[in-house]
Amino acid sequence: MAYTKRFDGRKADQMREVEAKVGVVPRADGSAMFKFGDTIAIAAVYGPRHLHPQFLQDPQQGIIRCSYDMISFSVTERKRPGPARRSQEISDVTARSLEPVLLLSQFPNTVIDVFINIVQADAGTRCAGINAASLALAHAGIPMTDLVGAISVGSLGGSVVVDLTKEEEDYEEDGEKAATDIPMAFTLRDKKISLLQLDGKVKPEDLKKAIEAGRKASEAIYEIQKEALRGLK
Ligand code: ADP
Repeated sequence: MAYTKRFDGRKADQMREVEAKVGVVPRADGSAMFKFGDTIAIAAVYGPRHLHPQFLQDPQQGIIRCSYDMISFSVTERKRPGPARRSQEISDVTARSLEPVLLLSQFPNTVIDVFINIVQADAGTRCAGINAASLALAHAGIPMTDLVGAISVGSLGGSVVVDLTKEEEDYEEDGEKAATDIPMAFTLRDKKISLLQLDGKVKPEDLKKAIEAGRKASEAIYEIQKEALRGLK
């Protein structure tokens, strides 16, 4: 059975309601909120600042350090606070997805710290976090060649759909998990992929379709990000 009608009635290529805003954490050097439906991410940027301890410094370029976490009441069952393998992995892939657009060579020996907090989670949190972080970096005035837009695309019971909810991620057929989650990020003007992960199985032709759907969605995200930055003036 193909997954033809989405649980929340969206079209296959339709994202949830998206909202973006910069300047949500006044004391940070740059900050932003990014929302996909019930998934809400807040990012705060501090730096570039001198990196301690000194042996971590790179005299050729600055480094970006991301710290992703979901707050305890972001999910229905209280999430245990503190670091975990999942948040460590997401912090690492977030930094890697943003690195290609940052002109880090202008800031040798420094660090740019990006703190990402998920205040409410309904799947797609790493993508919402990357979108918020990309905006917060631009808001902080960090020299960048581009923005980064991230979206999770799914392959569900034979259909390719964008921006999965948790209910869709947990979709089962015959008592077996039948949803594949493919988070991806694009540099928005160059259209290069800076993140591609895969949780589940996918046919090669569906992966191609998913990347195309993700690329299209990322163009819409770009417009929303630009709009949020324009609101700055
Ligand atoms: P992403 O949020 O990027 O899709 P995952 O696929 O790891 O990342 O997580 C999917 C969703 O599962 C999260 O958005 C969240 O809604 C839920 N989730 C993740 N970790 C927990 C947790 N510890 N407790 C409850 N729900 C969780």
